[in-house]
Amino acid sequence: MPAPPKKKGRQAKGGRAGARKRTSTPVVGKEYNYVLQLGEDDVALLQRYRDVLVQGAAGFAQTTYNYLFDNPDIADVMYAYERDGGNVGALVRGQFEHLLHLLGGRLDESETLASETVGRSHYHHGVRPVWSLGAYRLFLDHLQQLVASDPQIEHDDREALESALVKMVFRDIGITTEAYWREAVEQLTEQRDVLGKEQNLADELLGNIPQLLWTVDIETNRITYASPGTLNFCGGELEAPIPCFYRVNGAQRERVLTAWQQVIDGEPVQLEVQVDLSDGDEHWFRLAMYPVANRRGRVLRVHCLMEDVTELRSDRKRLEQMSTTDDVTGLANRTLWYDRLSSALAVARRNPGASVAVMMLDINQFKVYNESLGHRGGDELLRRIARRLNKVVRDSDTLARLGGDEFGIVLPLVQDVDKAAERVARQVIASLAEPFALDDKELCVSASIGIAVYPQHGEDPHSLASHADSAMYRAKWNAAPFLFYEADTIPSAREHLQFSGQLHGALERDEFELVYQPKVDMASGQIRGAEALLRWRHPQQGLVMPKRFVPVAEQLGMITPITDWVLSHALAQSRGWQGNGVQVPVSINVSARSFQAPGLLERVERALEQAGVPGSQLEIEITEGTLMADLGRGAEILGRLRELGVSVAIDDFGTGYSSLAYLKRLPINTLKIDQSFLEDMDTNTQDAAIVRSIIDLGHNLGCTVVAEGVENQAVLDRLQALGCDLVQGFHISKPLDVDRFGHWLIQAH
Ligand code: C2E
Ligand code: MG
Ligand code: MG
Repeated sequence: MPAPPKKKGRQAKGGRAGARKRTSTPVVGKEYNYVLQLGEDDVALLQRYRDVLVQGAAGFAQTTYNYLFDNPDIADVMYAYERDGGNVGALVRGQFEHLLHLLGGRLDESETLASETVGRSHYHHGVRPVWSLGAYRLFLDHLQQLVASDPQIEHDDREALESALVKMVFRDIGITTEAYWREAVEQLTEQRDVLGKEQNLADELLGNIPQLLWTVDIETNRITYASPGTLNFCGGELEAPIPCFYRVNGAQRERVLTAWQQVIDGEPVQLEVQVDLSDGDEHWFRLAMYPVANRRGRVLRVHCLMEDVTELRSDRKRLEQMSTTDDVTGLANRTLWYDRLSSALAVARRNPGASVAVMMLDINQFKVYNESLGHRGGDELLRRIARRLNKVVRDSDTLARLGGDEFGIVLPLVQDVDKAAERVARQVIASLAEPFALDDKELCVSASIGIAVYPQHGEDPHSLASHADSAMYRAKWNAAPFLFYEADTIPSAREHLQFSGQLHGALERDEFELVYQPKVDMASGQIRGAEALLRWRHPQQGLVMPKRFVPVAEQLGMITPITDWVLSHALAQSRGWQGNGVQVPVSINVSARSFQAPGLLERVERALEQAGVPGSQLEIEITEGTLMADLGRGAEILGRLRELGVSVAIDDFGTGYSSLAYLKRLPINTLKIDQSFLEDMDTNTQDAAIVRSIIDLGHNLGCTVVAEGVENQAVLDRLQALGCDLVQGFHISKPLDVDRFGHWLIQAH
């Protein structure tokens, strides 16, 4: 058959026959000439009768055409050929011309190459040799008939001509068929070479990447591919169906088998398993297994990618730790703390009546320690503090360092939440009471704690944390060791803003007032002093109590001029009463900020001078926390105040866990028992015992003991029995303005 027109598709793959350098074999033609005994005589004979032989060509072409389409297999190829844009008519004509060409009787090289090209092109077009053979047979039939019957052919030449024609056709069959197969072999070799190169490349790639790849044929349970890395990794143990299975740690094999079942059921799986290698270290691999299924969903193969994730896992673990623990103290960090708080709240929500307490704890004056110890020393102090705090909390509580010197505690699902939180707060404070020995120094550390409780003070983690935080700040300002959140005493953000604008002008506008509450001697019933308590006559809000505006004033740095105002007015008042013939020493409250502010002593001295009042007529009330925040400086100020004749009272005593050893060394004149102990004193034996021991302690320290907040006779009687020196409270008198206090004085006289 001749070379049909170029076909798309099929040819592209193998490359065009002519495009490739190939071994042309003209020698083949000579071999055929020899084997078939095709000689000069044959050629001469063919040339002589060529014109005769060419007769009837059209009829032959039709026969060939019919032949092609009568055979269904060949017809299929022809139809496909036409579908691909080929022209069967032209093909047949070409075929025919080739055959006619043979009749020219040429036996040279170009003739041989032409036949070879036909053979090669048959291969490319899927024209099998057996079909070509059919065309040759038709051709021979046609010629034999012609030779036998055409009168133009001499009778004596007929036998020789027929023989020459047969040899010529045989020769062409031989050359085209050989070329056909040679092309096939060359094509396959070339493909194999390409594949081999690709395989080498793939092997090189897969041998050098750290991932391992393998494929298992599910039908036969055989490993059909294992990358060089896999072979290396598994050593001789490439057992099917799961390569390297016995490298998997015994405890994890069950998981791998489950995953295998899943993947052969058609679902991709990923899992991380521990594998045992000879080095004895812990190694982890991630297996990603993908099923390959046929159209009906039947899984044929499983591909697997294995990857060493040992480092990844340890990085991940480290990261997890880093993201949940505080690297200085090893406690939980803010993230984990909020997480635990959220979980505790979620549990509490499902348990009606359940409570959660949230505590914020801030170390007082930590900045000072940090500066004097250096950051390393500061960190060490934080670690020691953390260790002590850790002993106080239960396993179910979460203690975290939230940043800087701030710690948080979550007490989940507590019964009797206020008491429990208070107990923990007291324990925390007690745990810090013992000084820390660091760098040959003894450091006294105290903390301020704010407590907020679910559900009373908030329902979500953030509002609870922020309320505990504001309670903590309030505790700090009030120098109280711990305080619960109180919605109405914490200035709201709006109030804060409002106050901050207005407080600035309050002094100039003369909006502050003092009220006085007497302190009375239990034994004699005589007045021994008056505590000056500050009020702000707010232009819109009326009388504002100190608990609302003092924290704001402190925050705004305005408390010192206010303290000065209180100081001068209270002293002037005392001087006024003195002029009326009554000696009433005044007590003023000095907050932690004012106490620590530089120049307090100078200002006190100046105020005394200006009022013309001796220091003995003035008492300063500070809280335990104010003193303990900076003991050294506190002791120094107290000493100087004593030199001025000014007395010092510890206000709200009993709530602050002062170190008794230090108290002993400080020049303190008065202890004021916190009113919280008096409230239930007649019913609560514990409170009564505390009051008794404060009175005893005060007396042992050489102090006057005042009970403040006495609201009824029963408490008064108990206090009298316990030997309390002075009393102050609504039962004796409420805080009164100057005029009313004057009347009270006259009456009391
Ligand atoms: P504090 O120094 O402990 O004052 C005693 C508080 O108890 C006063 O509240 C007083 O009115 C109240 N009180 C007195 N007797 C009774 C009683 O029998 N029952 C009850 N329930 N309460 C009683 P106040 O005036 O609201 O002052 C609250 C706090 O504000 C004071 O506590 C003090 O820490 C602070 N404060 C008052 N004035 C000033 C001031 O001029 N400067 C500073 N920095 N703080 C002040
Ligand atoms: Mg006071
Ligand atoms: Mg008090």
